Amino acid sequence: MNVIINKQDLFPANTSFLAKEHKLFIGGKWVESKAGKSIPVEDPATQEVVTHVPAGEKEDIDAAVKAARKAFEEGAWPNLTSLERSKMIWRLGDLLEKHADELAQLEVIDTGKPLAFAQTVDIPFATSMFHYMSGWPTRLCGEQIPVTTPGDWHVYSTREPVGVAGAIIPWNFPLNMLSWKVAPALAAGCTVVLKPAEQTPLTALRFAELAQEAGFPDGVINIVTGYGETAGAALAEHEDVDKIAFTGSTEVGKMIARAATGNLKRVSLELGGKSPAIVLPDADLQMAIEGTANAIFFNQGQVCTAASRLYAHKDIYDQVVEGVAKIADSLTLGHGLDPNVNHGPLISQSHRERVASYVEIGREEGADVVTGGKTVGNQGHFMAPTVLARTSPDMRVVREEIFGPVVCVQAFDDDDLDKIAKIANDTEYGLAASVWTQNLSKAHLLARKIKAGTVSINVHNFADATAPFGGYKKSGWGREMGREVMDAYTETKTIAAML
Ligand code: NAD
Repeated sequence: MNVIINKQDLFPANTSFLAKEHKLFIGGKWVESKAGKSIPVEDPATQEVVTHVPAGEKEDIDAAVKAARKAFEEGAWPNLTSLERSKMIWRLGDLLEKHADELAQLEVIDTGKPLAFAQTVDIPFATSMFHYMSGWPTRLCGEQIPVTTPGDWHVYSTREPVGVAGAIIPWNFPLNMLSWKVAPALAAGCTVVLKPAEQTPLTALRFAELAQEAGFPDGVINIVTGYGETAGAALAEHEDVDKIAFTGSTEVGKMIARAATGNLKRVSLELGGKSPAIVLPDADLQMAIEGTANAIFFNQGQVCTAASRLYAHKDIYDQVVEGVAKIADSLTLGHGLDPNVNHGPLISQSHRERVASYVEIGREEGADVVTGGKTVGNQGHFMAPTVLARTSPDMRVVREEIFGPVVCVQAFDDDDLDKIAKIANDTEYGLAASVWTQNLSKAHLLARKIKAGTVSINVHNFADATAPFGGYKKSGWGREMGREVMDAYTETKTIAAML
């Protein structure tokens, strides 16, 4: 397995953004971080430092929250009509679309993902979030309530923005994760302070420039780059933040929930997963093999919904293992800007070490390493796509989130849907699942029995701006996207008049 890193000709035409001196975006202005510290931004395919961004800390978060509070209470934003707000959000979606190539390239340099993935998934999804969410300002409304209390009453409810929303996001889909939080917050009429992941701050900073161009009033959108333990923690515990939306690990999610108890701010959490893909014996095998391989290897397995537990019926188990391993071996590793590459590096050296150590744990636990299982190349954080077969329910590799290109395959011999669902539900997570079968009735019955926020049929990793997304159990609190996300960014007020 070769790693292609032919950097000449790969770098984007527009490198001017990278060459800039990056600052924090607070109150509509580009400002230095108060402590003057910075974070190096690494290209994970080459390990080169491509630029630096400020390491914002508590004082910078304080300044950003103050600006967001001011913009929420005073000035143009709270006085815009719903249609004006809607148009502004749509315009921002248009600007993301207009600059899609540049944003996709920045995402590749920051995360290592193949360019085609950034072009077809990350950026279009983020764009669709702003376009879809721009419909909500004109549709959000309360209702008139026919009360049971005797007398003449006029009782109705209204929906109000929750206030200043804090957003903390991970590194696997940087602009996309930003859009999942910022777009609904703006649609609800909130103002936002966003802290991107320290590994991947670039598209968030470019996004702030585009938000300025779209005409958002000063302080409505604030971006503070920084580390989690400093800037992130300060945002999560801030007394003047009304809501915090977090995507990341379950461990940090618990810290966020605890930090939020100070002022009991509203909390939504999108956390880890250990999602099952279940291949029934009557599945279209070719489709199931390609689909489940993609479900784990897409984005190098660094996807919260990745199908890291693959269950194949014993009659087709060997074919599934062989087919998925063959696809793993066919992937081309290298720099994401190279058009021939379809598998990039992992995000960092420490993350690759973590993923590789899980493979060792799997080996020691008795799993059969069918393919992969090793790091690749001397430059960049590459890890071979890995298939662990003959795994069993108690193994750590089956129970814990690895967040890399490692799939654990297990055989099952039951045809009883309750028993199959029990296998799928044998996890502390509940983010996603997929069912592969040509019997649609069975597929829907099984989907009902699986405890996961999204169950896909003959596909995996389904997500869309219009459909609620979130987790059961330790995969989180609340739902993002669709109609439901508006609940996360609004308060409902009842107004009662005795006539
Ligand atoms: P992480 O939890 O370490 O970091 C996520 C974010 O939290 C980063 O911005 C980080 O700076 C910040 N952070 C870290 N410590 C903090 C603290 N003490 N206080 C406040 N903020 C803090 O996770 P990660 O390694 O960046 O991302 C991988 C994890 O994210 C995986 O577990 C994955 O499943 C999860 N994830 C979930 C979803 C989802 O929608 N459910 C999507 C993507 C990733």
